[in-house]
Amino acid sequence: MKDHLDLKAYAKINLGLDVVRKREDGYHEVRMIMQTVNLYDRIEMDRTEDGVIRTETNLPFVPDGEGNLAWRAAKLLLDEKGIKDGVTIKIRKYIPVAAGMAGGSTDAAAVLVGVNRMFDLGFTKKELMERGVKLGADVPYCIMRGTALSEGIGEILTELPAPPQCHLVIAKPQISVSTKAVYGKLRVNELAPEEHPDIDGMMAAIKNGDLDGVIERLGNVLETVTVPDHPEIAEIKEIMVENGACGSLMSGSGPTVFGIYKGRELAEKACQALREADGGRLTRQVYLTEFYNRKKAR
Ligand code: ATP
Repeated sequence: MKDHLDLKAYAKINLGLDVVRKREDGYHEVRMIMQTVNLYDRIEMDRTEDGVIRTETNLPFVPDGEGNLAWRAAKLLLDEKGIKDGVTIKIRKYIPVAAGMAGGSTDAAAVLVGVNRMFDLGFTKKELMERGVKLGADVPYCIMRGTALSEGIGEILTELPAPPQCHLVIAKPQISVSTKAVYGKLRVNELAPEEHPDIDGMMAAIKNGDLDGVIERLGNVLETVTVPDHPEIAEIKEIMVENGACGSLMSGSGPTVFGIYKGRELAEKACQALREADGGRLTRQVYLTEFYNRKKAR
């Protein structure tokens, strides 16, 4: 049993995102190449004896209590094991919110791992992943981390080797898009074959350690919905490429965009250009990072 834990909850991007079909139950079947990035929320957990689960975040628009996925993660495990103690979960958000980077899912994933450790519950990673899917389709992947093919509604995971390292610029325009609305507007059956990204080719490139092959195949079918509605996304992609990105893509249902750079200086220059674009109004959230490295991460 531990009284206190400090955790990091890592964000993801999608190097590839395809929607295969809409199921009868309304869910979309996807094929996605998931990639954890070295950008994370910090989570502090403290055990309490009053049986209450509390959450606090540093952002007023992220819900506390039941509305927070991290709260639901703690509740799920504590209830299942009949634990009488409580826990206070303090979340410092660095991952852009409602941005296509699985911010809520990764906080929930970190709390599942944390509660398991704090209360010595003895769940295996696989058992935590099975529970995680009840909270959200991306939660099992956020427990697994790294590079993976994600299928089904996102819960069927195949681990892949990490692609070669590069510099990543991540920028979120000052707009919000709802994941539900984006999927709702997607007409899977009306898409032309070339609008579907080459997920198999991307997997082969990753397995061959071929960064150029990965960059060539960057693709997200959801851009067909979001880009026409939000010119800011195309604008960010353009600035990234003008400033030396080898490739640039929207992550998840957006609106966050990432650019891949081979040189650090170019990436820094791109960050500067993005921060200054439209007198600072295009984006206020710009990050320079890289792919998550399991060996270096704690
Ligand atoms: P995904 O990539 O999985 O679609 P996202 O990046 O689009 O996720 P989140 O950052 O997870 O979206 O936020 C979506 C909504 O979830 C937020 O508007 C917020 O109200 C709610 N939410 C609940 N818990 C959290 C949390 N711990 N962090 C951020 N948002 C949370």
